[in-house]
Amino acid sequence: MPERALLAGFEDSTTLDEAGGTFDELEQLADTAGALVVARVIQRKTTPTPDYFIGRGKVRELGELAAGSQAGLVIFNNDLSPLQFRNLERALGVKVIDRTQLILDIFAMRAHSREGKIQVELAQLEYLLPRIVGRGIELSRLGGGIGTRGPGETKLEVDRRRIRSRISSLKDKLKKVECARKTQKKRREKSGIPIIAIVGYTNAGKTSLFNALTREHAFAEDKLFATLDPLSRRIFLPLTGAAMVVDTVGFIRSLPIKLVEAFKSTLEEVNYAHLLVHVVDVSHAECRAQISEVNKIIAMLGATRTPVITAINKTDRLRGGPIPEWLREENETAVEISALYGKNINKLKSVIDEKLASQKTFSGKIVGNDIGDKVSIAGGSI
Ligand code: GDP
Ligand code: MG
Repeated sequence: MPERALLAGFEDSTTLDEAGGTFDELEQLADTAGALVVARVIQRKTTPTPDYFIGRGKVRELGELAAGSQAGLVIFNNDLSPLQFRNLERALGVKVIDRTQLILDIFAMRAHSREGKIQVELAQLEYLLPRIVGRGIELSRLGGGIGTRGPGETKLEVDRRRIRSRISSLKDKLKKVECARKTQKKRREKSGIPIIAIVGYTNAGKTSLFNALTREHAFAEDKLFATLDPLSRRIFLPLTGAAMVVDTVGFIRSLPIKLVEAFKSTLEEVNYAHLLVHVVDVSHAECRAQISEVNKIIAMLGATRTPVITAINKTDRLRGGPIPEWLREENETAVEISALYGKNINKLKSVIDEKLASQKTFSGKIVGNDIGDKVSIAGGSI
């Protein structure tokens, strides 16, 4: 039985910090976390109140809805202060979480690798630490439910000092794991195999394309963040030869900066790539905004100079309708595909192949945006 949940927040949260985003997306996130959204309480207001975030009337409304619908959870679309959390939980008598916690919860579910698990626990603890006020965090917040799920390695300790020492030991572990990963990557680079990273907004069809390109089965489902840890597989291209295709974690609108930092090594795949394939869901109403979100994250990761091929996906959903003009104008190299139905996958493959082959320098080395490779970009290519 999924936990019943209510969504709450401001109608237009885009004017507020990084916590914005639409309620549809929040609902998708909640669904991914295993909750059933029974109602939304949206306030037409743009200034939060310090004590409850939303106004008193809305708090009452939420309380009544929670009782009437047997919801045990209220998910806010905005980030809440420790005081707001406490006041809301007291007033509503149910668990209250915010968008960041919901995302962390999903990350916890999806973390499979050792590194992913460490990163998730670290991010959760760092999120918790400043929220432990006075006599300690409310115990109810550390159960096994949505928003408090751990990656399963250790039980969270309800103590600041312990959390701090756990954080530093996790950081040490992370460094070691990162070292091992870098060695692996070095080896990969030495072998001269170009890396193609599939990036894009969550649910755009990255994993489906990864599967289509590598023709092997990988985990694809209609859920946000179906992949946390990068998957990579080798393919063979006529001109380039062997290449590595990497599936990456989905980007979302206003992914809290703290989480981006915590997951940087996962997203770092983007940095090491010689070529990015940006998968775009052309059938999505917010297609354009999603593209710019993804571009922002690529820029933040320092990969703006890496060549990009745009894969205009889900063209089957357009039912013969035209591809928007701006999409062609703003994307130099674009291929219309359907990852699900395998349309134009071979065409995309040959565009990838040509792009990679054209990046080869005289020495035969692939020029990309590698951290240790930046200088060679000016060296010119064939
Ligand atoms: P990811 O989050 O970017 O990895 O997206 P997935 O590959 O997991 O796909 C998300 C959802 O979109 C799944 O339900 C896919 O079946 C669906 N999907 C992916 N590509 C296409 C496509 O070309 N056409 C249609 N109609 N659906 C697609
Ligand atoms: Mg995926």
